[in-house]
Amino acid sequence: MRKEPLGIILTADLAAKARGRAFPQQDFQKYLSTGCGWVPANLAIDAFGSIVTPNPFGSVGDLRLMPDVSSIATVALNHSGEQTTMVLADIHTPDGAPWENDPRSFLKSAVSDLEAETGLSVIASFEHEFMLRDDGGSPVNTPFSLESFLEEEEFGGLLVAALQDAGLEPEMWLPEFGRNQFEVTIRPAPAIVAADRAIYLREITRHIASQLGKRITFAPIIEENGGGNGVHVHVSLQDRESRFVTYDPQRPGNLSEIAGSFAAGILEHAEAIQALAASAPISYERLVPHRWSAGGVFLGENNREALLRICPLFDVPGANHQKQYNLEYRAADATANPWLVLGCLIRAGLDGIRRGLAAPTIVHGESGDLSESERAELGIRDIPSTLQAALDAFTGSETVSGWFARDFVDTFVAVKRAEIARVEALDPAEKYDAYATSY
Ligand code: GLU
Ligand code: MG
Repeated sequence: MRKEPLGIILTADLAAKARGRAFPQQDFQKYLSTGCGWVPANLAIDAFGSIVTPNPFGSVGDLRLMPDVSSIATVALNHSGEQTTMVLADIHTPDGAPWENDPRSFLKSAVSDLEAETGLSVIASFEHEFMLRDDGGSPVNTPFSLESFLEEEEFGGLLVAALQDAGLEPEMWLPEFGRNQFEVTIRPAPAIVAADRAIYLREITRHIASQLGKRITFAPIIEENGGGNGVHVHVSLQDRESRFVTYDPQRPGNLSEIAGSFAAGILEHAEAIQALAASAPISYERLVPHRWSAGGVFLGENNREALLRICPLFDVPGANHQKQYNLEYRAADATANPWLVLGCLIRAGLDGIRRGLAAPTIVHGESGDLSESERAELGIRDIPSTLQAALDAFTGSETVSGWFARDFVDTFVAVKRAEIARVEALDPAEKYDAYATSY
């Protein structure tokens, strides 16, 4: 027997899964220029692998996955070090134009509109939390501990190496607070690279775990009242000369005027973009107060309950506050496609800049124990409490649904409504298990 080395061209869909087509590695160059075929109805694949019907595409039509060489990455298949090459693609129509429903092209167009209208670009990083599903019988939680680190040192070491080899620039690997929870952070990068990395990171992490016979999950929550797995998206703004322009020590919260408008746009559209940032019914069990996830729509300084957090600055040797300063969007999770999440944040921020919105009120101190009237006074709004409510906010916002083609909106809503109906029929244990297995 002989095994041919393979390469694969990938897209990522509404269920945030990387899907694509593989071919002999020796034909990689050819496929980089020709791309490969793809099917419109694949956009309607749900988190559990079914194509939701009816969808706007049915059985007709053809598309092409056109690889973007900037996203080429390799991953080791097993302990032997044998590798496969992956590349992410834009989806094009047969005449070579970007497909209007392509999630990656959505981010690309948001990036280029922001640049064209303001001269700004976004530097971003996606921070991921996940859990081991098998705890080896340990009865106690051991947050942040050396014990957890040592227990999973082999996994951590292999994972960090795999992320390095794939060019993802891992920064930290740490035992997190939740039961059997870990976090991995990677270096900030320009928006499209950052979102591409987030797509790879989840797949590579699952792959390394499965090589070790472990089951892990990025699902937002895996048991009732359990800890949450967030995807925190850090963003800062650069001008055309690559100067960071998010920080202004003369202004409240050190938030520059332009970044204040950008933040205000994100808050203004927060409910309407929520379904695209946390896309499963169970996502909404995580997005409630007192969980250090996101407990309300507000901008907070160093506050882990904020939807949007001004991250702390540190006067460590060599510190560059212009560069350090960033905003963290905390309401995303791994059921959402990183291209869509970041594209929505950029579109919302751009809308805030276009309209010259004033910087939001910055909430200081604890927000969890504020009364209804105190929340109202500070302008803190509730995050939609269900995926259905978030979908209603999405379709109800002409601005936000208007960023997408009609077919995209209809497909997203159809896929998510089907998912809601499917999950409603499950008992709680089945529901958590379904998502833990899928993500
Ligand atoms: N696990 C929390 C979440 O669900 C985040 C904790 C942290 O601040 O890192 O988002
Ligand atoms: Mg964390």
